[in-house]
Amino acid sequence: MGSRLAVYPGTFDPIHLGHLDVITRGLKAFDGIVVGVGINPDKKPSLKLEDRVAMVRKVVEEELPEPGRVQVLPFTGLAVHFVKEAGSSVMLRGLRTTSDMEYEFTMSLANMTLDPDIETVFLMAQDRYSHLSSSLLRQIARFGGDLGKFLPRAAVEFVKANYQKAP
Ligand code: ADP
Repeated sequence: MGSRLAVYPGTFDPIHLGHLDVITRGLKAFDGIVVGVGINPDKKPSLKLEDRVAMVRKVVEEELPEPGRVQVLPFTGLAVHFVKEAGSSVMLRGLRTTSDMEYEFTMSLANMTLDPDIETVFLMAQDRYSHLSSSLLRQIARFGGDLGKFLPRAAVEFVKANYQKAP
């Protein structure tokens, strides 16, 4: 049996408990996960790519029991290219509500056309995280709300410090 590697691409602006749950559960199905921190041209990230990579790395190192099974890398182009460069053929994504469904369905069909060798695997969000989104977290951070209920502990101070002053 070979080692199964999946790539979980996202913007992670910021990473929250829903994302961490996808990584944790993904590790039950895969031997390793590469978390790809990217740039979504439809979204204007409030934090620079290298800051988001540093935040995700800190969360992986401090919150996961086996951080060695997860690698965090930046990427700038198409997610399918990044999956291939990482030596994988599986893209891991999370699915929240029916509204995610439409976007993710379109993306996975486009990715399938771009590279039929890559399969997208979806994990349904757990009930308790299905309301979480990075945009909600940015609002809570900006207005000084309690982030501890939504973020991994390792990200709270970072998000407080960086998102209150973000444009
Ligand atoms: P992108 O800009 O690529 O959508 P995000 O960082 O917003 O990047 O999301 C990365 C992935 O995580 C997406 O597949 C998204 O559907 C999924 N995701 C986001 N929030 C949650 C959540 N609360 N539970 C499970 N999956 C989630």
